Amino acid sequence: MIENITFIIAMEAEAMPLIDKFGLTEEAAFSPKLPMRAWKGKWQGINLTLVTNGKNKDTGLDLIGCEAAALATFQAVKEFQPQLLINAGTAGAFEENGARVGDVYLSRDRVVFHDHRVPIPGWDHQSEGHFPVWDTGQLRTLGFKYGIVTTGSSLDMPQEDEKNIRRLGGEIKDMEAAAVAWVALLHEVPVFCIKAVTDLVDSGKPTHDEFLRNLRLATNNLCDGCERIIRFLAQSPDIRLR
Ligand code: SAH
Repeated sequence: MIENITFIIAMEAEAMPLIDKFGLTEEAAFSPKLPMRAWKGKWQGINLTLVTNGKNKDTGLDLIGCEAAALATFQAVKEFQPQLLINAGTAGAFEENGARVGDVYLSRDRVVFHDHRVPIPGWDHQSEGHFPVWDTGQLRTLGFKYGIVTTGSSLDMPQEDEKNIRRLGGEIKDMEAAAVAWVALLHEVPVFCIKAVTDLVDSGKPTHDEFLRNLRLATNNLCDGCERIIRFLAQSPDIRLR
């Protein structure tokens, strides 16, 4: 039985619907020097915590990206010792794979960095991460789409990144998952991603326009998806964490 789950979420706009849905309350869990924020609560008998990357204090903008995500995950694991980490957020996907804006995907197999280019034997593979993710096949009956998530430090997709994503079989493109998965792996905490599609990276439309236009739809669907997963886990005593 899973009793303790932590969500790692980059942006406040992605986190707020979940905080409301689960009735979580904010807690001063981390050093005041750190921008990360934490919320806590209990829902359907499961202790839930939710950590966001926080904001840049000068710009007021969310600290998206790998550096903040790794630090957030480290703090979360240390403080809350979850049995399972869920990296929830928005992402780009490929129209050619049948993805639509608003679709909700679960990670499968592994997460990979698509923009870590180190063409030296050994370091090439290591730099890409290839971190295993928790077996989301156990959630199959919930009807989500499934994809390999790849992570990079940019919102756009230059040709070199696209080439790598295709080589790696990437279906979902984000800016945090592999960083979260690395820290989870170090601490031997199972992790998976749930990502709602804000933009189609092969649509020919500017990604940032699509992202802003579809953020609300995607975050609502993300929230519904997370709720269904937590409800399912709460009712599934036989779920395997390893
Ligand atoms: N201009 C936006 C910035 C969001 S950046 C704003 O300030 O409101 C994108 C965020 O959503 C990242 O956290 C990333 O994980 C996710 N994301 C959505 N679509 C993406 C894509 N096509 N490529 C990479 N990350 C994407």
